Amino acid sequence: MSEWFVEKLYPSWRQTLAIATPLHQSATAHQRIALFENPQFGRVLTLNDVVQTTERDEFVYHEMMAHVPILAHGGARRVLIIGGGDGGLLEEVLKHRTVAQATMVEIDPGVVEFSRRHLPMICGQAFDDPRTDLVIADGLDFVTRPGETYHVILVDSTDPIGPGVGLYTERFYAGCKQRLEPSGVLVTQNGVPFLQGGELSGTVAALRPLFEDVSCYLAAVPTYVGGFMALGWASDDPALRHIATETLRTRHATARFSTRYYSPEVHRGAFALPPFIADLVA
Ligand code: SAM
Repeated sequence: MSEWFVEKLYPSWRQTLAIATPLHQSATAHQRIALFENPQFGRVLTLNDVVQTTERDEFVYHEMMAHVPILAHGGARRVLIIGGGDGGLLEEVLKHRTVAQATMVEIDPGVVEFSRRHLPMICGQAFDDPRTDLVIADGLDFVTRPGETYHVILVDSTDPIGPGVGLYTERFYAGCKQRLEPSGVLVTQNGVPFLQGGELSGTVAALRPLFEDVSCYLAAVPTYVGGFMALGWASDDPALRHIATETLRTRHATARFSTRYYSPEVHRGAFALPPFIADLVA
């Protein structure tokens, strides 16, 4: 393999992926976008030289971000996704036939067009689903405007670099709160705690004054290197973080789709935090 992609997200730790076939490189109005084929991970999508998703491991992140809050809530009809331009999360959300509307607010139409064309194995037919309401806008502007409320809000953002910066601010989280139904759940992308502890503790500190119950849960995504990644959790209903395994089993079975990472047992276990991560959310 002669060419390598080097992700320099951290000052003293790099991830390198062999480029078996370079497929695309361009720039949208918001960011640089690239796609290549890697023998282990299949198609790899990068934005501003940071891995966003890959064909082979996307199921971990997208299943855990969608199914944990939706099955914990048990009655989500309206779901809001902020970011998520590759469509992988939207596809998982729409697997719930009980979801009547999935609004996705993505700042960059270039990522959506690109993913529709080059990543059908990740987004499937999600963008053509009649329940999809695609809004091209800044997520911060969208949630801080008055408007519809949602049972579940999922923040599938880039790291706090470039257009993603605003999605890690107190103003943004306050906007999410006002767009959430009273017993709703907000889930946020909070990076890898071992390497990006400040991302998680910063989000938790901003969410805590707004919600009764704030914590995080974990998933191991191979290309988000450095150990578990954290998904922030905020709700005014503390019971939603402790739904019994048996109830989750019934809801998962009733939903009638198969999963490769999510299971009711994994769902429950994902909220068990190693002490160094519990300290970040304390
Ligand atoms: N799962 C990925 C991760 O953890 O790195 C995130 C993937 S998804 C491609 C991230 C999306 O967030 C991108 O398409 C980007 O354009 C979008 N985004 C960044 N900032 C945004 C903003 N302010 N409003 C809406 N979407 C935004």
